[in-house]
Amino acid sequence: MRILVIEDERRLADTICAILRERGFDTDAAYDGESGEAYAKLGVYDLLILDVMLPGVDGFELARRLRAQRITLPILMLTAKSELGDRIEGLNAGADYYLTKPFDSGELLACVHALLRRQGSQVNVLSFGNTQLDLDACSLVCGERSVRLSAREFDVMRLLFQAGGNNVPKETILSRVWGFDTNAVENHVEVYVGFLRKKLRSIGSDVAVEAIRRLGYHLEVRHDPQA
Ligand code: CA
Repeated sequence: MRILVIEDERRLADTICAILRERGFDTDAAYDGESGEAYAKLGVYDLLILDVMLPGVDGFELARRLRAQRITLPILMLTAKSELGDRIEGLNAGADYYLTKPFDSGELLACVHALLRRQGSQVNVLSFGNTQLDLDACSLVCGERSVRLSAREFDVMRLLFQAGGNNVPKETILSRVWGFDTNAVENHVEVYVGFLRKKLRSIGSDVAVEAIRRLGYHLEVRHDPQA
């Protein structure tokens, strides 16, 4: 499980990361809205902890932008204020839960576990175009047709679906799917994308895996699925 923390108070951000790492989570910290947004779009995180008061793009705006781009990762919003208005604005912006500062590590962990549990039980299907990725059956589904994916194909496909049409860098796919297998090379990603394209076509999907040279891959909806 990988958690992204976006908080401009570095000591607090680093403390949150340390608390989470102690419990076995992988963490990354971003200290401003712009770089945080770039991280969040990588599609590699299971949860976002997002501070409201950030220089530049604030937490509300950032949450709205992510939701507008169909990025569905759960958002735990941190706010220094406890006024009702802020909470409502946060929830309207797309946050799943908020935590009022100051909080202790127990409260933080309780929120994190609750959100991840909820995510696990609610999200067992990801959608893009006319196609669903069934996370329980490890299969792609389009109407009444479906096709099973191998473990690696599934891992690659899930990263692309989670990114909701945003680019996923090749290096991200390589490190998330192949981990520290030092024999894996970028060519592996291309080979698996090739398998996935065939499987998408085989069920009549309108989803295409598009490549941007050197940058990575993203999903697109094709308007002429027969072509
Ligand atoms: Ca702040």
